[in-house]
Amino acid sequence: MRRALLLATIMVCAGALILGGAVVPVQAKTTFVTIGTGGITGVYYPTGGAICKIVNNKRDQYGIRCTVESTGGSVFNINAVLAGDLEFGIAQSDRQYQAIKGEAEWQDKGPQQDLRAVFSIHPEAITLVAAEDAGIKSVQDLKGKRVNIGNPGSGQRQNSIDVLEAFGIDWEKDLQAEQVKAAEAPSLLQDGRIDAFFYTVGHPSGAIKEAAAGRRKVRIVPITGPEVDNLLKKYPYYAKAVIPIEFYPDTGTEDIQTVGVKATFVTSAKVPEDVVYAIVKEVFDNLEEFKKLHPAYSVLTRENMLEGLSAPFHPGALKYYKEVGLMK
Ligand code: GLU
Repeated sequence: MRRALLLATIMVCAGALILGGAVVPVQAKTTFVTIGTGGITGVYYPTGGAICKIVNNKRDQYGIRCTVESTGGSVFNINAVLAGDLEFGIAQSDRQYQAIKGEAEWQDKGPQQDLRAVFSIHPEAITLVAAEDAGIKSVQDLKGKRVNIGNPGSGQRQNSIDVLEAFGIDWEKDLQAEQVKAAEAPSLLQDGRIDAFFYTVGHPSGAIKEAAAGRRKVRIVPITGPEVDNLLKKYPYYAKAVIPIEFYPDTGTEDIQTVGVKATFVTSAKVPEDVVYAIVKEVFDNLEEFKKLHPAYSVLTRENMLEGLSAPFHPGALKYYKEVGLMK
């Protein structure tokens, strides 16, 4: 609970206020909350910013001061929320599922029972970006190449491994896997130090635009075929997804078929109900304004923001959903 102090309410007793001759003590209360996001060229970082913007608009009403932190991604965020180092985090739906069930990174620790769902956000697509001169047209072509699968702590690292495995590629033997942060991958690709990288991200994303804007021509490689059908049968949290090519016109002319998950907003059972309630209420009551903050939110509805969650809902979120009739 390193940062517990930050959530701890800070009482600002700025002495006293003289009102019509009477002395009234002022006790303005500020509650600090931090949202763990991802790399600054991803979509989590602006998403944390969008949530904070909406919530901080009502600072006078709730006394909540919301800030964002750039982090290593989903797995880092879930663990930081559970440790009490962050109050909120953005995490892929598949990672939320694994944490609550005690799978993947949580296999040794077991089910993470304090994890709570708040709402889900934009769709994220497993995005495979490759240099054209590397001759990579399909996942199979990654054999023997230098490929960034993502840093430990990221959501995408396991997605990259799952996709490679589905195509019969052993990431430890059949290619040279790099494990750096997604924010570093575009320049490594442009500098010729890697041939391709995976990034599970919403679109449009700054990282993919950056990769596509350099001198070395890149393409987004489809992740499709019978191998993918098997992948979808094996894991409940993957679904087919499409990356609109209009966001990256320099990379090709056709939309890209791939596999995706959802970004979700998570917290811990230890975070107070009124704080979670206030954040949910502000985001949902101002959803149209929120949706203008990033093109990836265009598909969001109040209803679909309650889908794709596997952890129990936080009571503060439940209170709002019941109040407005989104839940019984
Ligand atoms: N999906 C990525 C992860 O969990 C982060 C994507 C982003 O930052 O937009 O690590």
